[in-house]
Amino acid sequence: MPLLENHLAVVTGAASGIGRAIATGFAREGARVVLLDLNVRGAAEAAQEIRDAGGKADSFALDVTRREDCIAVARKIAGEIGQVSVLVNNAGINRRNAFTADEGAVIKDWQDIMAINLNGVFNVTHAFLKPLCASKGRIVNIASIQSFVHVRTPNSPAYTASKHGVLGFTRALAAELGREGVRVNAIGPGLIETPLNEQVRTTNPQLVQTFLDHTPLGRAGKPEDIVGPALFLASDLSAYVTGSIVMADGGYRTI
Ligand code: NAD
Repeated sequence: MPLLENHLAVVTGAASGIGRAIATGFAREGARVVLLDLNVRGAAEAAQEIRDAGGKADSFALDVTRREDCIAVARKIAGEIGQVSVLVNNAGINRRNAFTADEGAVIKDWQDIMAINLNGVFNVTHAFLKPLCASKGRIVNIASIQSFVHVRTPNSPAYTASKHGVLGFTRALAAELGREGVRVNAIGPGLIETPLNEQVRTTNPQLVQTFLDHTPLGRAGKPEDIVGPALFLASDLSAYVTGSIVMADGGYRTI
């Protein structure tokens, strides 16, 4: 039996990169998936691709920073599609300004990154709490190696703080929701080749080298490298796992 048969999975930031790969992988394993993204056209294209391959997918526009919109889309999904049993909080951004960079940029980075990467996770999780509790659901938050360390090149402290926050939130919710039968875990990707870092990979080869120097597996990751950990955490394979983080970083933190 497919790993996610009879599950309804919502993935935020599903138009691109890791979220798109996860939504596609979940559909391949039998889940009905709902792709949410600010980029409504990208999400619709990804959903169409999934349907063309025989999967079940819908897409809606969502800006995770807008709490009221998160509540509205959760209502819409409950009314039109069904009871959500898996939530993947994946939408996120990164900007790599050092804290000592131009003041305007540093302040804007802090506000935008916190609004999307951390407040967005709160907004979406809170909006889907009822169906997740009713279905004894699973929440998978996309954290980072920066939930533990600060990367050794100029890199926004806001991003590091937001991803530490995502891991803290994961653990706090796991502790609280375990009695409801809801499991809450995180994935910690290393450098994954996606549009998020396309520009910096082109303009800053030193950054890529820094990552690879600390990656025993000797290569950057692909979005598909995150699908297995996500399937594990969303499915019954991880029935006794909660409050954990699965690192998918090529071993980054070992050296
Ligand atoms: P990506 O840029 O390819 O995809 C991110 C998606 O999020 C985009 O489709 C974008 O439109 C969407 N998004 C951005 N702001 C949004 C908002 N306000 N509301 C809704 N959607 C929004 O990036 P990715 O690399 O696939 O990143 C996905 C997640 O993985 C992020 O949380 C990121 O921090 C995390 N992550 C990525 C890496 C990496 O190396 N790529 C490493 C560790 C963690």
